[in-house]
Amino acid sequence: MRLKVAVMGITHESNTFVKEPTTLRQFREGHWMKGEALLNEYRGAFHELGGMIEVLEQEGIEIVPVMYAEATPGGIVSTVTYEILLQELFTALDSALPVDGCLVVPHGAGVSESFRDMDGHWLSLVREKLGDGIPIIGTLDPHGNVSDQMIASTNALVAYKTNPHIDQRETGRLAAKLLVSTLKKKIRPLQHLIQLPMAISIEQQFTGKAPCKSLYALADVLSRQQGILSVSIMLGFPYADVEEMGSSIIVVTDDDEQLAIGTGKTLEAYMMVHKQEFFGLKQDIEDLLPRIEKSEKPVLLLDMGDNVGGGAPGNSAYLLKALEARGKIRSFICLCDPTAVQLATRHAVGDTFEMVTGDHEDLTMNYTSRVKLLYTGDGKFKETVPRHGGQVNFDMGKIALVVTSAGNTIMLTSLRVPPFSLKQLTSFNIMPEEFDVLVAKGVNAPIAAYATVCKTLLQVNTPGVTCADMTRFNYMNRRRPIFPFEEI
Ligand SMILES: [Zn+2]
Repeated sequence: MRLKVAVMGITHESNTFVKEPTTLRQFREGHWMKGEALLNEYRGAFHELGGMIEVLEQEGIEIVPVMYAEATPGGIVSTVTYEILLQELFTALDSALPVDGCLVVPHGAGVSESFRDMDGHWLSLVREKLGDGIPIIGTLDPHGNVSDQMIASTNALVAYKTNPHIDQRETGRLAAKLLVSTLKKKIRPLQHLIQLPMAISIEQQFTGKAPCKSLYALADVLSRQQGILSVSIMLGFPYADVEEMGSSIIVVTDDDEQLAIGTGKTLEAYMMVHKQEFFGLKQDIEDLLPRIEKSEKPVLLLDMGDNVGGGAPGNSAYLLKALEARGKIRSFICLCDPTAVQLATRHAVGDTFEMVTGDHEDLTMNYTSRVKLLYTGDGKFKETVPRHGGQVNFDMGKIALVVTSAGNTIMLTSLRVPPFSLKQLTSFNIMPEEFDVLVAKGVNAPIAAYATVCKTLLQVNTPGVTCADMTRFNYMNRRRPIFPFEEI
């Protein structure tokens, strides 16, 4: 008989230091679909769902596209939102039962008001519903903070190996292949989790260079051992005050516990010896400005404190102010500021007027200047090549483009969209190579897109809910002791 596999996901990276909760509106403005719509959206995408669909279709397996819901990273998911997501997911799953297997797409750093370990919670409900005999295998974003419950509720979880994440489709393929082999009784996945007594700083999580590069090279060597099905390094997400916050390792073997434990221990030892390198140096904009002037252009200036992909609002004009004050540097910056967009739409292209840009609750993070209006209109665009996040369709709501009297260009958006694609600029006739500086509100994720144009990459330590120095946050729930908070 033809095998039948359910595919589902609730994906959210929740920043517990953001005051505003994430609600249904953010999931609706994000990516939330069921049935055929899910297959149509992701079949060709560089997203893990794309890889899962590809393998299942190749194998002639019947796919039940249950539900996928993803919102842009932000505050914790409200109780009512999480309840509705669960209700929708389980109603769709119930009507599809029985299934032979299940592919799941949690993020790993989801937090709801009612369940700090949101991913562990919904995965445990799926396990409860399906029973122990049905394999559940899935993917994780390496920014996940992994709990015992996530591991206990699944047969195998495999994480992307790149940050920026450009191997999501491949990771989805791996998860699906593991499930197919399990269903065909060729393997019996056994997974082992090690929660390390350390957390890696966000700016040290770029897998293209030290210190991550050699760590991933070691994981790659270890993953080639006979009997290993997957080795995942979970970098972790520092902006979540939860028990499982921190870095971890997941090793999946073909029913070999000793191999799983031993491999995990080798990686743990490596990471602990190198822990200081994973904390890194932080540089402020005042230190960097002279360097920017001397650097090969364009420079990608990464605003770490207002990192949209880490849950920040993307509305701080902190760097714009510094660049305007310095002068001589032609810059581009994108700010989520619906109020400024509204003001702009009351003017005609070519008009000059005074505008407050930035929509930050700390008013000193905003910037008032005279601007000239260049454009207003809809902010939809498409990305068709592998970029962080693996999404195809983006919507910034209504947008406005203005240029300040100092010559800096500001894109103002109504919806928060992380800077993962240069189509965000080029679709609106902004040519990135014409600027000295492109400000992107992120840390590593934007590099996949921007490195194709930018000759210099600089990460700036700026204030905000994703400030690079995690020791500045007040945690109540994290595990202790962990480096860099305590000496290990
Ligand atoms: Zn991530």
